[in-house]
Amino acid sequence: MGTLEKSKMQDLQDIIFTDTHKEVRAKAHEVARKYLLPQAAKHDHAHSYNEEAMSAAAELGLLGTWIPPEYGGTGVGILGLALVVEEFSKADPSFGVAFAVNALGSIPVIMGGTEEQKQKYLPGVARGEISCAFALSEKFAGSDAGGLSVKADKVDGGWAINGEKKWTTNGSRADLITCFAVTDPKSRSRRISAFLVEKDDPGFAIKKLEDKMGIRMVPVAETEYKDCYVSDDRLLGGRPGLGFKHSMMTLDWARPGVAAQGVGTAAGALELATTYATRRKQFGQPIAGFQMIQSMLADMAQQTEAARWLVYMCAAQADAGVSVNKTAAMAKCFATDTAMKVATDAVQVFGGYGFMEDYPIAKFMRDAKILQIYEGTNQVQRLVIARNLVKEAATHDYLGEFIPQEHQETFTEQELVTANT
Ligand SMILES: Cc1cc2nc3c(=O)[nH]c(=O)nc-3n(C[C@H](O)[C@H](O)[C@H](O)COP(=O)(O)OP(=O)(O)OC[C@H]3O[C@@H](n4cnc5c(N)ncnc54)[C@H](O)[C@@H]3O)c2cc1C
Repeated sequence: MGTLEKSKMQDLQDIIFTDTHKEVRAKAHEVARKYLLPQAAKHDHAHSYNEEAMSAAAELGLLGTWIPPEYGGTGVGILGLALVVEEFSKADPSFGVAFAVNALGSIPVIMGGTEEQKQKYLPGVARGEISCAFALSEKFAGSDAGGLSVKADKVDGGWAINGEKKWTTNGSRADLITCFAVTDPKSRSRRISAFLVEKDDPGFAIKKLEDKMGIRMVPVAETEYKDCYVSDDRLLGGRPGLGFKHSMMTLDWARPGVAAQGVGTAAGALELATTYATRRKQFGQPIAGFQMIQSMLADMAQQTEAARWLVYMCAAQADAGVSVNKTAAMAKCFATDTAMKVATDAVQVFGGYGFMEDYPIAKFMRDAKILQIYEGTNQVQRLVIARNLVKEAATHDYLGEFIPQEHQETFTEQELVTANT
């Protein structure tokens, strides 16, 4: 490759990333090297939060990454968020989620909040003074998020929230919890509303802290709302019935963040595996010299790189205001399946040492698993992708002449005809 071609390759990054993108990525890298790599194992074993790293991230302004500049953020949007989360997750996947959950909890305010709500909360989030959580899931409503049972009843001057939420990441630490509750049980489309609950609101309590397989550094809580009173100005967007829409829009925007956790997790596991393979000797030579190990490493690298660019593309689309319903599902599903596969293969490269908790590689595999489950399982992502494909197929009239023309009467159609006569 000539000098000109090399500089063109570097230019590609210049085209895609602004100086501010590069700046936030460099700052995240600094935090990762200084506070995450050396401390990840300690916090994992103790199930303790890495406050020092979060304070450093806040001091460097990283919690304002996705917050628009008019509310005190850096305004580098979802792509900026993805770059930062990737750097963090590469060093400690659990810190990737501890950071990204602040975006998940505050994006509803950015997307659906009133001007007063944005002014009240977003500058504090950007400064790292308001920590966030997103409480949608319940014991009996996970993938089927429309089936919530936590309810909010109208009372004088506000709302009374009652019920329990399950698996609220950062729930026990957050200052602001975006909580979704049923306000109109009879409505199909406007059943749910979102409320901005503050940790000291009367009636809000932590019921239980979950004991987890991975991401042990970040607390995940079962929370309880007992006549939890919130004033009218805490109803997101100021109007009831918009909650389901707000939750789905938020998840579309936040999914590149989870996908970036996947990319970082895969990249971190790959770097560890490659480093180990070049140093570990068996049969008189580094195991990196064996073709089967090379083949694994090569596949891991390809998958990680493909996931990375899918995530960047999706994040850039979100920042450009394009609908990312399909690409966010693709990025989330592909990048997190990649993380699980790459982390598992990395453990294999490490052999017996991979199964031990003495080194971080086992933690990468434990931390990777949740990525395929939360913010919509990867089965649900595939449903979303397929639904979009089917919708798009309706516009493929130009292909009509290239497929069989016969009309096929299906069993369901016959049934309908009979039922209608
Ligand atoms: C550590 C952790 C942190 C979390 N953090 C948060 C959080 O911060 N906020 C929040 O609101 N939630 C959070 N969750 C909840 C998480 O989003 C849900 O666990 C997830 O959406 C799946 O819901 P479920 O566990 O009820 O599984 P279920 O919905 O019961 O699914 C069980 C299985 O059935 C499959 N399945 C379900 N429906 C279909 C379908 N239609 N087609 C095909 N397969 C299907 C699923 O893919 C899965 O494999 C967290 C969960 C965990 C474990």
